[in-house]
Amino acid sequence: MLRFGIDLGGTKTEGAILDPDGSVVFRERIATDSSTYEAVLAGIESVYRRMRGHARDAAHTLGVGTPGAVSPRTHLLKNANTTCLNGMPLAQDLRRRLGRDLTIMNDANCFALAEALHGAGHGRRVVFGVIMGTGCGGGVVIDGRVHAGLQSIAGEWGHTSIDPNGPACYCGSRGCVETYISGSGLEQRYADAADQRLATGAIVAGWRAGEPRCTAAMGDFFSHFGRAVANLIAVLDPDVIVLGGGLSNVDELYTRGAAEVARCVFSDSLETPIVRNALGDSAGVIGAALVGN
Ligand SMILES: [Zn+2]
Repeated sequence: MLRFGIDLGGTKTEGAILDPDGSVVFRERIATDSSTYEAVLAGIESVYRRMRGHARDAAHTLGVGTPGAVSPRTHLLKNANTTCLNGMPLAQDLRRRLGRDLTIMNDANCFALAEALHGAGHGRRVVFGVIMGTGCGGGVVIDGRVHAGLQSIAGEWGHTSIDPNGPACYCGSRGCVETYISGSGLEQRYADAADQRLATGAIVAGWRAGEPRCTAAMGDFFSHFGRAVANLIAVLDPDVIVLGGGLSNVDELYTRGAAEVARCVFSDSLETPIVRNALGDSAGVIGAALVGN
């Protein structure tokens, strides 16, 4: 049986087909049009149709990774930073459009599962996967299975507040982890202080070159990273933390960032490995393929 996975991201929608050995035999990417809910559905459907064409309609499972989660109570999508999805019956609409059953799973959970089974968390019992991209998500995998939680919010550390007087978040709270250590959060905090906008890469480059405003922004970034990761370690104490998303490519997260975690953690020492993902930006779509039915 082939495994089809589709990862609905903020900027791209990606499909991948895994063969029975788990190897990726087909990949396809299109830009995500999230201008309307209908456009998101159409994008997923077009990727799925091309995957089916490639596989010549062979039998397959299908999993779809999305921001947010399907509420076990209402069966509607909630908590998505692609806000046009919230309150929508995404699973039912996709089943109708694609003419088949499928599994919907939070994208960070997909990332964590793929890294736990085939990536940087392989061989560890309790894996916490972190995505520091446009937003800031997380997922918990225990003994090779996603722990989604009673309300399907396990691992959503990006919306734990570390300052009730901090910046407003789209979720309605203030000072969420996401408003400090996601790519969009870092850029907004820099813009608030410097009165001009810079992209994440330029802020990191400016900091490495000693530019004072970038240095201040990155100092805050590492300090918030330390506090946020120490908080999650105090709750879950995972065997490994795997970082993904664009910001996981900042090498200093694994040195200075880890040192900030050690400074904040409720322990006599920090033993938790904080490591870079092994599957790159394929982890989300591979995880989606792994959870499909
Ligand atoms: Zn929030």
